Amino acid sequence: MERNVTSVEHYTPILIVGTGISGLAVAYYLSKNNIKYTITTKKSAPKQSNSFLAAANTRVPSENDINNIINLTINKCGADRSVIETLYRNSNMVINFFEELGISYEKTSFGIMPECLIKSQGGKKLINCLLQHIEQPLCNKILIDLEKSDDGIIALFYDIQLDQFIRIYTNYLVLATGGYAGQFNYNDNSPGSTGETLILAKKIGARLKGMSTVMSHPWSIYNGRQILLGGVVSLSQGKIVDEEGIQLLKDEYICDAIARDDYHEMIDEILHFELDCIKQKKDMYLDMSHADETILNERFKKYGFSTKVVKNKRIKITPTMHYSSGGIEINANAEVINLNRVFATGEAQFNGDLGMGRIPGQAFAAGIVFGKLIADKIANEGVFNTQCPITFKDPPEPMQLYSKENNDFPIEEFQKKLSTLMVDLIAPDSSVVSLSLHKREIQESQNIILSSVRGSGKRYEDILTLFFGYFVALEIIEDLEEKAFGIG
Ligand SMILES: Cc1cc2nc3c(=O)[nH]c(=O)nc-3n(C[C@H](O)[C@H](O)[C@H](O)COP(=O)(O)OP(=O)(O)OC[C@H]3O[C@@H](n4cnc5c(N)ncnc54)[C@H](O)[C@@H]3O)c2cc1C
Repeated sequence: MERNVTSVEHYTPILIVGTGISGLAVAYYLSKNNIKYTITTKKSAPKQSNSFLAAANTRVPSENDINNIINLTINKCGADRSVIETLYRNSNMVINFFEELGISYEKTSFGIMPECLIKSQGGKKLINCLLQHIEQPLCNKILIDLEKSDDGIIALFYDIQLDQFIRIYTNYLVLATGGYAGQFNYNDNSPGSTGETLILAKKIGARLKGMSTVMSHPWSIYNGRQILLGGVVSLSQGKIVDEEGIQLLKDEYICDAIARDDYHEMIDEILHFELDCIKQKKDMYLDMSHADETILNERFKKYGFSTKVVKNKRIKITPTMHYSSGGIEINANAEVINLNRVFATGEAQFNGDLGMGRIPGQAFAAGIVFGKLIADKIANEGVFNTQCPITFKDPPEPMQLYSKENNDFPIEEFQKKLSTLMVDLIAPDSSVVSLSLHKREIQESQNIILSSVRGSGKRYEDILTLFFGYFVALEIIEDLEEKAFGIG
């Protein structure tokens, strides 16, 4: 690391990292209690979060349904009982939250969502509203290292815009940093969802769980950025074809189910088929040749397809990573297991292998409910000590990747390879032999990165994403090994 990189130091009693629903909810409830805090995010606008992209359909089960949903989440998804009981028994907090913020909402089949002209913009509405009620977030700061001290945590950030490092000392740390689906080439997440803070939490003693469960969606368009609704997919009558129009999906049963828009229970089988196509380097298209052009036009309008595409009656599709279930293990107060005064909330926490049938709307409910519980816990406990420890240990590995002189290592190429490898890992046929091979491959790439890849600014950000991406892949392998052999 070069000596001319300034390192600024700050103290804050409470540090919230992340400005999605979960970070903003903690900030909102702390502000309500007049408690001082600092909130930071990695990108130029607090808007860059998965929460901003969501419809914010938020699960609030009726009294009669609470036990059912708790049991389903525990039995089907392996969630921790105390965490999931806390979430759903407090889910009426969600209604108070919307009402306090003056956000009008409509009832949905399983909860509520903000009333909006364009339904998919509920998250945007909620985030914009929350930003009016909280301390202004510090933007462009990527959390790249964590260190424990006697009374708190030292967090090291890289400021992309100012091109400098900042050390923030805090008594309470809240990790609201979302998931890691952004490490996959095809994903519909915000670009910041790359999972580095999960790796950092583990470095200081946290436990990660369920890291191999990433929820994918089978029908994405525009290279993963948008998902097709069932009503459009069913027009294909289940015909998935290759570039030449030859039918790839031959299973009549699945095709029929797709045609009836009744395939949701078969998502795993469909994804398995699609991943096989990807491995064989086959492009996939939904063939709509049976559909009436007027209906196609009508249903395609919202996706912005040209008339040429509609006339062609064929759309290129790919599965896309939508939600990562793996995360930091917490207790019912969202405190990180093994760590004092560190919390994890939102998609960063593990609350069930939800990939295997994610409970829709749970993500927003968890962000809001745990946001309040975290703020209440800190307000009641309030142990603050402004004395920042002055030890500046050796620069951590991520800092060693920094240099004002950028070199020309092909980061993007390595990133694509990493994503392909991770898709390979989460595809169910990963054998133990290939797991250990993949592990070696990853470790070799990590060594290359550490020994020869350097950069600053945006390039440094990309290097960091790749660097932490390899650790995420290793966590996926560790989880698969644990599931296969109970190694832990
Ligand atoms: C298209 C789409 C639609 C969805 N629809 C719904 C829905 O209707 N209902 C529902 O319940 N769920 C939905 N989900 C899932 C849900 O949106 C997310 O799980 C939830 O918003 C995650 O909130 P979060 O606050 O935990 O993380 P995010 O909203 O992802 O925010 C993470 C924040 O952390 C910051 N960050 C990450 N790493 C760092 C770092 N190293 N340093 C500094 N900052 C960092 C990011 O910049 C960002 O600000 C949807 C997801 C997608 C992608």
